[in-house]
Amino acid sequence: MKKLEKRAILCLVLAGVLLAGLVYYTAKLAVDGSTWASYPANSSIYSNGYISTGSIYDVNGDLLLRNGSKGNLKYGGGSVTRTATLHAVGDRTGNISTGAESVFASKLVGYNFLSGTYSTNNKGRNLYLTIDDSVCRAAYKALDGRKGCVGVYNYKTGEILCMTSSPSYDPKTSNGSSYSDADGVYLNRLLSASFVPGSVFKLVTATAGIEKKDNIGSYYVDCTGTWQVGSYSGDKITDLSAHGTVSLKEALAESCNIYFGHLAMKLGGDTMKEYTQKAGLMNSYNINGIRTKKGTFTFPGSGVNLAWSGIGQYNDLVNPCSLMVYAGAIANGGKAANPRIISTVKFSNGWSTGFNIKTQTDELIKASTAKTLRSYMRNDVTSHYGQSNFPGLKLYAKTGTAEVGTGKEPNSWFVGFIKNKGYPYAFVVMIENGGTAITSAGSVANKTLQQVLKTDPVD
Ligand SMILES: [Zn+2]
Repeated sequence: MKKLEKRAILCLVLAGVLLAGLVYYTAKLAVDGSTWASYPANSSIYSNGYISTGSIYDVNGDLLLRNGSKGNLKYGGGSVTRTATLHAVGDRTGNISTGAESVFASKLVGYNFLSGTYSTNNKGRNLYLTIDDSVCRAAYKALDGRKGCVGVYNYKTGEILCMTSSPSYDPKTSNGSSYSDADGVYLNRLLSASFVPGSVFKLVTATAGIEKKDNIGSYYVDCTGTWQVGSYSGDKITDLSAHGTVSLKEALAESCNIYFGHLAMKLGGDTMKEYTQKAGLMNSYNINGIRTKKGTFTFPGSGVNLAWSGIGQYNDLVNPCSLMVYAGAIANGGKAANPRIISTVKFSNGWSTGFNIKTQTDELIKASTAKTLRSYMRNDVTSHYGQSNFPGLKLYAKTGTAEVGTGKEPNSWFVGFIKNKGYPYAFVVMIENGGTAITSAGSVANKTLQQVLKTDPVD
């Protein structure tokens, strides 16, 4: 009997180990299955280390890239399309970390957790991105070889219509090796980089001022063009010109440094940090698994550097995509849709999986404050930027000319949104060393948005 008992216990232990192993394996399969299936040694879907299955299209079904057998690869469109969409589509070398070709490999091979198969006829899947190649082309042409980026996205649905980063190259004829490291050709400047924001950051300081400064409506600053903040000669804030006595609304339109420097010092470093965090500028967004770069800021408790930090200088660094989402939240009453880049994934048998799950950001700005800022941003355009520079666009915007060091042209920014019916889009344009914002980034925004208006209206 004793012998039998021992054997029974042994069997139970073995069964337990087996069960534990099964549970462990199933859990691993659920978590890592798609990674295993898209492992490069998988010869049925890889050839010479390259995916040999699946295609990538833009939102209208224009082919951007088709993976073929023996590692062959076919790009759709002409050279400008290939260059303008490179940082969204990706290339063979995998140097571009945000490219769909590598980020969404498991979706292209068609891995499915339940069946485990790639697809029944081994053709892979068709991956439809949210970008529109015509808008990307317009943006890339407008950048005209300068380093920078353009982003346009639907703040109600999250769909990124335009994601263009420059410099870029035609992946059909080049691998980008002619660029130096300093050019950052593989860098997606919209998602993976951060830059000195300059005056576009005044939107955040304005938000904090509207909510935290008593009687902001009757708070005026006298701008003489220079403001000696501390006792040292270098402790001063300078402006492009003397703006006279200005209110918040006028200061935003004039982009008056001295007003916003005063306001930041009244608000204090802690409040500035609180509102920068709330605006989402220190967060990373998850775009179908691609993480955006977090912005970084330091706000001193007082002094001239606190003033500069409220003007978008000092140690301020912002990611262009997060700024675009903030503009979307201003447009949309305080919350915006989280950005996304995948539209749909279609199987070769016609069945498709939608990626239309709309998720929203937290409240980035109070609804009532957003309403006030909308009226100010519209006033910026009508009173200062010139509506005639943006024909047909119901535009709300803020310029930014960010100093980046002695002897260098400033970074040029233009951020905002349009309210044309059927076109709920927020945008950001950033040009490194682009010079004066309105003629540089403003012009790129106009050329891009004119093409947006030629796309089909959405709800
Ligand atoms: Zn001023």
